[in-house]
Amino acid sequence: MKIAIIGAGISGLVAAHKLKENHQVVLYEANDHIGGHTHTHEIHDGERTHPVDTGFIVFNDRTYPNFLSLLNELNVPYQKTKMGFSVNQQGSQFAYAGTSLNALFADRRNLFSWPFWRMLRDILRFNRHALVDLDEQQSFGDYLLRANYSQYFIERYILPMGAAIWSSDPQMILDMPMQFFVRFFHNHGLLTVTQQPQWYVISQGSKSYVDALMAQYNQRVVTGTPVRTVYRESAKIQVLTEKYGKESFDKVIFACHSDQALRLLAHPTEEEQTTLGAIPYQENTAILHTDTSLLPQQTRAWAAWNYQLNDIQGATLTYNMNILQSLNSNKTYCVTLNQLDRINPEKVIKVIQYDHPVFNERSVSAQQRWSEISGKHHTHYCGAYWRWGFHEDGVVSALNVVRQIENGAKHAELPLRRVS
Ligand SMILES: Cc1cc2nc3c(=O)[nH]c(=O)nc-3n(C[C@H](O)[C@H](O)[C@H](O)COP(=O)(O)OP(=O)(O)OC[C@H]3O[C@@H](n4cnc5c(N)ncnc54)[C@H](O)[C@@H]3O)c2cc1C
Repeated sequence: MKIAIIGAGISGLVAAHKLKENHQVVLYEANDHIGGHTHTHEIHDGERTHPVDTGFIVFNDRTYPNFLSLLNELNVPYQKTKMGFSVNQQGSQFAYAGTSLNALFADRRNLFSWPFWRMLRDILRFNRHALVDLDEQQSFGDYLLRANYSQYFIERYILPMGAAIWSSDPQMILDMPMQFFVRFFHNHGLLTVTQQPQWYVISQGSKSYVDALMAQYNQRVVTGTPVRTVYRESAKIQVLTEKYGKESFDKVIFACHSDQALRLLAHPTEEEQTTLGAIPYQENTAILHTDTSLLPQQTRAWAAWNYQLNDIQGATLTYNMNILQSLNSNKTYCVTLNQLDRINPEKVIKVIQYDHPVFNERSVSAQQRWSEISGKHHTHYCGAYWRWGFHEDGVVSALNVVRQIENGAKHAELPLRRVS
């Protein structure tokens, strides 16, 4: 078959990689670079060059089995990383990190703060009870209120954690279905202090797995070529780009985001409108820079992930890339989300826009309708947004599409979301 794949992020790349042997595949990518959210920058630092990641960074040995087997198949080296988390407050000494006792009480005033001690107690209570309390119906915000968690725990621990993980506005975390949030935490060992998975980064930057994949890819790839419209006329698919006009295919795979896919369809069906239309994306600005004032005032609280409490909308988080990628430099390379105005312009290296899926009751319920639209009208859908929004999810969603095409599978053979 002749198959068009729209989008060369992890989802489109895995679909192309698996389908390339049996089919004629054209991979369309709007950007000039392949990889989508896999985005590595070569940063010159004196004699050295660092491959710094601003999009996809980390994965682990528990919840990324399909992505790991791809890395192993491609022989791409990866290395252990540290995943410490800190919270600090803009313009104040308030800071704590989970990396050591010294870091937990980085702000010594917290030794004598009752709300802080209650927050620690609430963390243990949440870890013990959240799974037992699992309720399919309620939102996470309702659960936190009903279970009487302190506002301090909500605002200074659980929302920053959720907002950091999903690069989401903290308020949106409250709208997540409780079971979506808690199952993710459980699967990733975030409800325990001891049984956390080992986290990794790709040794020469995330882009090296994309390079390895592309080195063995032998079919047509068109970059810098956004698809404008997809027409479905009886048994044929027509893909329109400015550069190449209309090109004809037997099938199309949308490996871009849900909202982008919906915009591209000339005549979306009602099911496509309601399903894709229910999974929105939100924009985040990522800034690669070397301004350490975005990290906690006390260096003992510096961690790999540093959440900053302030009144800016959206996730306000700084990744310390020296810790995450073991960069050997006198400078501290940071990736900060959504606080461009606060960063010394002289220390800004790059500013990039990324979109993240929004998970709320409506979007999580729409995920269950994947098989109602994928595999119909010669059209298939993959993307990390079909599960939890992470790299493994992109791989799984692509494998499901490949099975639909190769085996005629009607339903997702790999679970859309892991339930155990
Ligand atoms: C800052 C940041 C940090 C992250 N960190 C992690 C992490 O550490 N671990 C993790 O597992 N996940 C992380 N993620 C989540 C990440 O989004 C997913 O892991 C995954 O990379 C998403 O893949 P995707 O294929 O669904 O989408 P994308 O990677 O976004 O790919 C979609 C592609 O479609 C293309 N496209 C869109 N419209 C068109 C069009 N009209 N024509 C042609 N092409 C089009 C886009 O240009 C893009 O390349 C992070 C995300 C961000 C933004």
